Amino acid sequence: MAIDSLSFGDLRIEGVSRAGEETWIRVHPPGLVFDVGRGATRLAGAADVFLTHGHLDHALGLPYVLSLRTLHNSQATRVFAPAAIGDGLEQLIGAAETLEGVEYDYEIQRLEPGDRIPVARDLSVEAFATDHILPSLGFHLRRAKKRLKSEYQGCSSRELADLKARGTDVEIGESKVWLSYCGDTGPEVFDLEPRILESSVLLIECTFFDEVSRDRARRFGHMHLDDLVERASEFENQHLVLHHTSRRHSCEQLRTLVAERLDLEGPEVHLFGCIQSDSP
Ligand SMILES: [Zn+2]
Ligand SMILES: [Zn+2]
Repeated sequence: MAIDSLSFGDLRIEGVSRAGEETWIRVHPPGLVFDVGRGATRLAGAADVFLTHGHLDHALGLPYVLSLRTLHNSQATRVFAPAAIGDGLEQLIGAAETLEGVEYDYEIQRLEPGDRIPVARDLSVEAFATDHILPSLGFHLRRAKKRLKSEYQGCSSRELADLKARGTDVEIGESKVWLSYCGDTGPEVFDLEPRILESSVLLIECTFFDEVSRDRARRFGHMHLDDLVERASEFENQHLVLHHTSRRHSCEQLRTLVAERLDLEGPEVHLFGCIQSDSP
C-alpha cells in the first residue's frame, strides 16, 4: 500500500490505513509507531510500538518489526499494548521466534487507561479507553511546555534573568495533548475520553459512510460518518484526520462525501491513507 504523510507544524505523521487491510501510523517526533499493520520495513526505526488492539490489520506485523529490529541490532523495542492482549502477543512473538530460531530483543508493557509513558525528553504517551469489540486503547501524545508563572508575567527579560540568577523558579511546567490517536472505535469514545475533542491533532477512524447503517457500524465497533456529523460542533481540534476508511468507496467518492457532510468550522479535515493510486 502506498504510504501517506501529513505535516502539522513540527509534527509529522506517515503510514497506511485502510479498513480490514492494515493500519500503522508513525509519528515524528519522537518516531514511535501507533499500530504496526501487517509489518513494514519502514518500521525498523521505531523503538517504541503502541498497539491499540489485537485485530490482525493492526497487530500482525509485530513479530516482523521485532525481527527486523533484532536483525539490524537496534536497541530493545518497547511494546505497549492493552493489558488483556499481552499474553496473546507473547504467544504470537514466541511462535515467530521459534520459526526463525532467534530471540528478539523486546519487552512488552501491559497498559490500562490513564497509564503514562515517557517517550522523549518533553513527550509522553497516555493511554485512554476506546469503544471496540475487543479490549482496546487509544493514545494521547502529550508535550510538556514551560510557561511563565502568572506573578512574573509583567517582568522584563532583564528582571526575569535576575530572578533566575538568584535561584527563583519563574516558570511552571504543563503538559498538553498534542495528538490523539484512536484505533478502531465506535462513537462511545467521545464519552469515554472527551479530551480527544481538544487535542491539536485528532486521528479518528471512520470506517463506514453511506452504505451501512449506523447500527451495523456500532455492532462492529466502528465509526460511521454520521457519528462525526452529529458531533460537528464539538470538535475543538485544529486538525481532524480520518483514517481506516473502507474500500467500498473510491478516494474521490470519500472526499466528496466528507466535503459535503462534514463541513466543520474549526478543524481542517484530512483523509489519511486514501491515496489516488490506491483506489479500487
Ligand atoms: Zn479492530
Ligand atoms: Zn481495523
